[in-house]
Amino acid sequence: MTSVIRTIADWRAESKRLLNATVGFVPTMGALHAGHQSLVERSLRENDVTVVSIFVNPTQFNDKSDFERYPRNDAQDIELLKKLGVHYVFMPGYQDLYPEGFTVRVVENEISRVMEGASRPGHFDGVLTVVMKLLSIVRPYRAYFGEKDYQQFLLIKKMADAFFLPVEIIPCTTIRDADGLALSSRNVLLSTEERAKAALFPQILKTSATVILAAQKLEQAGFSVDYVEEAWDRRFGAVRLGKVRLIDNFPLASIIKP
Ligand code: AMP
Repeated sequence: MTSVIRTIADWRAESKRLLNATVGFVPTMGALHAGHQSLVERSLRENDVTVVSIFVNPTQFNDKSDFERYPRNDAQDIELLKKLGVHYVFMPGYQDLYPEGFTVRVVENEISRVMEGASRPGHFDGVLTVVMKLLSIVRPYRAYFGEKDYQQFLLIKKMADAFFLPVEIIPCTTIRDADGLALSSRNVLLSTEERAKAALFPQILKTSATVILAAQKLEQAGFSVDYVEEAWDRRFGAVRLGKVRLIDNFPLASIIKP
């Protein structure tokens, strides 16, 4: 049985009944796809109870139109989570999560300043703050995050360690379409033509000898490059194709140099 919980108070009342059950948690912004599904299935395998949150967090969008365009699919998402056997879908409202506005926040000053953080000022303050709130409310034993957002995973792990949060932060492999494009809720915003071209992004990122060459080849292929950089034994890239921004990363060991 799947319960949809819409307030913090309802979750607190409900979670009292869970006693010693291990709780696995998958925070999402909805518009669920097979990437989210893989995190959920892993949580279901590894824990007694799985909670999936759906909350499109406005404080992590540095671009208002990106927030407004962000795909929302609540009814379909709930159906999928029911089918998978998720125990709780947590869908809090903005006022419930941000009663004080956004005056108290979690800020990291190193990892959050490069790549995604440099391209999207304030983004990681919003991410860390909302994840801190969600972890404090749900109090999971394990929480699952995708490697597609590797910098986000690193920051959340660092935050959990820094605040001694009693939760294990677990990275999960990136799930891709058959042509190699990493699944993302924003992919539905690509036109047919853009979607076909988007497959070149992971291909070029993965097969270029250097980050400079990768950036050049991406620009030649019609992408607008935000960055291609290497850090933490990985190569990261972010590009824009029309109005859609795509990000991806690969372990350096998997890069195929010509
Ligand atoms: P989002 O709804 O985009 O905030 O994503 C929720 C979680 O799913 C985050 O931990 C993401 O890293 C993860 N995720 C998103 N896309 C994928 C994917 N293609 N493969 C694996 N995990 C993903």
